[in-house]
Amino acid sequence: MSKTFDVVVIGAGPAGYIGAIRAAQHGLSVACIDEWQNKDGKNAFGGTCLNAGCIPSKALLESSELYHRAEHEFKKHGIKVGGVDMDIAAMQKRRAGIVRQLTGGIAGLFKAAGVEGLIGHGRLLKDRKVEFTPRDGDKEIIEAKHVILASGSAPIELKIAPFDHEQIIDSWDALELDAVPQRLGVVGAGVIGLELGSVWARLGSEVTVLEAMEDFLFMADRDVARVAAKEFKKQGLDIKLGAKVGKASAGKKGVKVEYEDKDGAQTLEVDKLIVAVGRRPVTGDLFADDAGIQLDERGFIVVDDECRTRVKGVFAIGDCVRGPMLAHKGSEEGVMAADLIAGEIAEMNYDVIPSVLYTSPEIAWTGKTEAEVKESGRAYKTGQFPFAASGRAKAMEQTAGFVKIISSEDDDEVLGVHIVGPMAGELISEAVLALEFSASTEDIQRTIHAHPSLAEAVHEAALAVDNKALNFPNK
Ligand code: FAD
Ligand code: NAD
Repeated sequence: MSKTFDVVVIGAGPAGYIGAIRAAQHGLSVACIDEWQNKDGKNAFGGTCLNAGCIPSKALLESSELYHRAEHEFKKHGIKVGGVDMDIAAMQKRRAGIVRQLTGGIAGLFKAAGVEGLIGHGRLLKDRKVEFTPRDGDKEIIEAKHVILASGSAPIELKIAPFDHEQIIDSWDALELDAVPQRLGVVGAGVIGLELGSVWARLGSEVTVLEAMEDFLFMADRDVARVAAKEFKKQGLDIKLGAKVGKASAGKKGVKVEYEDKDGAQTLEVDKLIVAVGRRPVTGDLFADDAGIQLDERGFIVVDDECRTRVKGVFAIGDCVRGPMLAHKGSEEGVMAADLIAGEIAEMNYDVIPSVLYTSPEIAWTGKTEAEVKESGRAYKTGQFPFAASGRAKAMEQTAGFVKIISSEDDDEVLGVHIVGPMAGELISEAVLALEFSASTEDIQRTIHAHPSLAEAVHEAALAVDNKALNFPNK
């Protein structure tokens, strides 16, 4: 007899595993199927984010940042450390240990919540039946009242630079390198290119980033992009904009990349080439032809604002559906889908999803950029406060960057907050809350911020919107 669950989730990344736990919290019987295998062949829950994305990248960003600061900053603090050396094997062991702890933790969370974690492949059939093929076993059919598809995404491969996973590598390979490449090339100056480029540049690689677009960080506010470009250049990242890659070929002497920019045909020779030009939804063998699931022209599963597919009782969430490919976006969709399945009212505010680049300085924003507000035709005002005027930032020796707030002229509502500077990824949470609550600039102005803290820069930027900054001259 086939098993029956109230909810079957396919995929245990941050979208699927959170959706599964939330559904179980509602008292529903839940199974979560996942087939992720790490490079050692072992299965692990957590998907891209925990195994090959957010977590390992942040572990290496932290280690490489500390190494860089020990080498370049400690002297300013009056700390003498002699020759600073690195041990890549130890750094990678720490990274792997963090990943192991967190992915293992999901199995514990499933057990505590009563979610049945199933290791193997899941495939949606007609009428909310799920075919489950265990890693080492025979296919079985599971009946589900509701199904959540959370199959995630994978790196886009360029035909002109196919991955060999040795010299032409993807982001996962780049997180598991066991030596610092002397010359590192990166195709794509997006989030991955900049984060991983920063890691290896700090550890000593000569990094060249080839970006097809003419505008640097085209999705960010222009003021932020300008400061970030300057800072990355200082750190030795050689970012070439408007670079159209024609071909990359791997050989004994490394990878030869042919590209064209405004000055004509160019060649770049590197030891490793990371290709980070975006990710594509994973939907191969996820559903039968007659299951009723529809894909859009880019391969994403078609869903409405509540993540419902065209099939009654079947939801899809995370990177396999429209919207930014971010872990926290997927997790919140998981919560929403589980709450809707349980009969609650739930919705997602897609307008205030925070974006963070964990570079140095960090970059974070939420809401609209100045260009977007301008285009909307709404009258607006802006305020900026530089970290160079922040006592805390000075004490931290991290004064690059600023906080910028854009508010509406008519009702003072905060429309966008953009930060480049220390701990921007933490500071942005106050802004997300402000936008979620439709706060006015005056709300932030009248909120007491601890002194001395980096958060005071958010306070001062809000004051600056009305030319009332107290620790920096107004416009
Ligand atoms: P995934 O995490 O991809 O998980 C999907 C899971 O489903 C996988 O385990 C997969 O094996 C499984 N699966 C797929 N199909 C099936 C099937 N048919 N049967 C069984 N199992 C299946 N985002 C952030 O918000 N912050 C960051 O700092 C950040 N850093 C990143 C760094 C890197 C290098 C990368 C690559 C990504 C990063 N991201 C970050 C993006 C983030 O990892 C994704 O947005 C997130 O993992 C998406 O979650 P998901 O659950 O939708 O999919
Ligand atoms: P991305 O979309 O952020 O950037 C890809 C970049 O490659 C773009 O700038 C694009 O113009 C460029 N590009 C595309 N084709 C090119 C070509 N042929 N030659 C040169 N440049 C080219 O994608 P990504 O960096 O691969 O990241 C994938 C996803 O993972 C992103 O959507 C991101 O949201 C997510 N991610 C998030 C974080 C974070 O939240 N901190 C970190 C890493 C990844």
